Amino acid sequence: SECQLESKESSIYKEDMCTGDYLKNYQLVKQIGSGGFGCVYLAYGLMDSKLVVTKFIQKSKVYNDSWISTDDGHRLPNEIYILNRIQHDHIVNMIDFYENDIYFQLVMEKHGFGMDLFEFIEKTNGVPEPLGAYISKQLIEAVDYLHSHGILHRDIKDENVVLDDRFHAKLIDFGSATYLTDKPFKAFCGTFEYCSPEVLRGNPYRGPELEIWAIGVTIYVLVFGRNPFSGIEEILKNTLEFSDSASADLQYLLSGMMNRSVEDRFSLRDALRSKWLNQTVFLDNYDFYDICDLERSCVEFQNSRYILDEGPVISLATSTPYRKASDPAKKSLD
Ligand code: ADP
Ligand code: MG
Ligand code: MG
Repeated sequence: SECQLESKESSIYKEDMCTGDYLKNYQLVKQIGSGGFGCVYLAYGLMDSKLVVTKFIQKSKVYNDSWISTDDGHRLPNEIYILNRIQHDHIVNMIDFYENDIYFQLVMEKHGFGMDLFEFIEKTNGVPEPLGAYISKQLIEAVDYLHSHGILHRDIKDENVVLDDRFHAKLIDFGSATYLTDKPFKAFCGTFEYCSPEVLRGNPYRGPELEIWAIGVTIYVLVFGRNPFSGIEEILKNTLEFSDSASADLQYLLSGMMNRSVEDRFSLRDALRSKWLNQTVFLDNYDFYDICDLERSCVEFQNSRYILDEGPVISLATSTPYRKASDPAKKSLD
């Protein structure tokens, strides 16, 4: 089965990742996400029998300027340091971390069953505006919280938002996150499709204005099911275009968030006040499994089946028929 951990080669690799105290508490179930970069696994908590997600961060691959020294003399990647210090309803919750010589093992809550907005958009080809507003608002609240704590995410995009079957969204992947400073940043570290024109041109950037643009792109993709621009040239030159069916409120919001003039670009507060984000949404109108054309997804582990979209692990009779969430043919460049 796809869920088993076999293959000699990969099991040696996996042992490398897991060695240390991590193994006293967790057992790997299966790799999630399907990107080649992904060292992200679904794991089983031996203490509480709950499923969690573990991201294996190879120490040698963390950039020199992405480390923080803690008060007790520890060196931690920004990703762990920052995630450990924040708490928000729409940001993934870090449970613990471990380390061995080669890896950090970042243990997080499992949100939904590992479907990110990229996969969701692939399945839906864009969602109705009210549902799009409901999801987008959660993302903006998360980023507003980060900025108010002096933190930049710097890799906001559909892949880095996970969704559960109640359309509850959480921001993940703090691998590019950093603290805001007075000194502007020079290096861009996200994905070019989500990058603002002035930063693509190589201008130093403060941060929040870049994230607003990136959220604008994310909203555009979520609602229309396609990128607003199809290459760097277009990002630099083209004006934003909308389909005829796009509401005036949405066009107004996105034109503000993706304003080419940095001075005139909306702030997150402007966005949060917008009519489109504050529209009334009747969530009962939308069924996640209908919209995605999915069965409730399950995973097989140690002769039991577990529903992955419920909070606690539920063991099912082994005879229950099931279908796994299909792996999309991912993923964009990191
Ligand atoms: P990378 O830095 O390699 O992009 P991410 O942290 O973005 O790694 O995780 C890769 C993928 O794994 C995500 O796009 C998402 O599909 C899935 N994922 C990561 N963390 C979680 C989580 N806590 N709950 C559910 N799915 C997750
Ligand atoms: Mg990611
Ligand atoms: Mg990352």
